Amino acid sequence: MDLTCLPVDRGFGDWNFKDMDEDCLEVKTAIQALSLAWALCQRVRDDLAGGESILKSDRSPVTIADYGSQAIICKFLREAFPADPIVAEEDSAELRRPERSRILEQVTRYVNQLIPGSSAEEICSWIDLSSQVVTDRFWTLDPIDGTKGFLRGDQYAIALALIENGQVQLGLLACPNLYVNQDQPHGKRGCLFLALRGKGAVQMDLERKNRQALSVSKVEDPSEAVLTESVEPDHADHLFHQRLARRLNILRPSLKMDSQAKYGIVARGEAAVYLRVPSLSEPAYKEKIWDHAAGALIAEEAGGKATDILGHPLDFSSGIKMVRNRGILVTNGILHRTILEALKV
Ligand code: AMP
Ligand code: MG
Repeated sequence: MDLTCLPVDRGFGDWNFKDMDEDCLEVKTAIQALSLAWALCQRVRDDLAGGESILKSDRSPVTIADYGSQAIICKFLREAFPADPIVAEEDSAELRRPERSRILEQVTRYVNQLIPGSSAEEICSWIDLSSQVVTDRFWTLDPIDGTKGFLRGDQYAIALALIENGQVQLGLLACPNLYVNQDQPHGKRGCLFLALRGKGAVQMDLERKNRQALSVSKVEDPSEAVLTESVEPDHADHLFHQRLARRLNILRPSLKMDSQAKYGIVARGEAAVYLRVPSLSEPAYKEKIWDHAAGALIAEEAGGKATDILGHPLDFSSGIKMVRNRGILVTNGILHRTILEALKV
């Protein structure tokens, strides 16, 4: 990706986002697309909370939001970058089945609120712009990361990354339900995290005002560190995390959070460690690229480090699954070696 649109002499923390918005089509498109997807997801969420049009008991709300979010983002990306493959989580096969017609109707209704005049057939074709092809330049998308959090009304993220030659160049995370200010966990919600390789990372609100350069925590002593982990016991080995924390004298309770919002809170210094040791229920689980690419760049560009739990670099070049990696470790950088050593025991 040609990032010459960014002034090179502006250092970390002194980023001029206005220039980027105006000049860099990748950033502009990504932000526009995620903003619309954000609106769609929140509308589905609000209807879910109101209990009016969507049943709480099945997975339909998350399905509607997943499909809608993917359709919108794929459409924007394809129009701006016709040659770029998109590797995203969903396809429309299930949605096209006659017994899913009600879901398709709902997806169409929600997408039409944001892109008027889109037909069900068009929406399915936008969803299917996603392929499973990993090339030397492609986008990877999780239209709703943290589906369980979305259903619970907790954290979820819309995650988009641009990968070139195996390296994440652009990472964008929309976290509609994440509090903006860590000192006010019940205050204003909704964060966009954006990072460009070599240029730093920022947090913004949806209106893209209040931009704030991100910087990881400076904690050197594990006893002062906050560790964040998945809410879901099936997604990570909580007991192992707990034992490791005890051994390292990490005294504070872990911060359990769904989705890649965890990367965002490491990037802004709220947690110093994000650990994801494979759960006992699925010890050979291979992480998916769309679950980590955007977040990893955001944490690293804020000064942190992201590897697997063996210290290997995260591999985004081998396909959808990160077959060369085991688990995930993200830290403020300072604590990385200490935690890797402790993981060996
Ligand atoms: P989190 O909210 O951090 O638990 O991450 C949610 C993501 O976990 C989902 O997008 C899934 O792709 C992923 N996931 C599903 N099953 C597993 C598993 N057994 N181990 C680790 N991650 C998983
Ligand atoms: Mg996911």
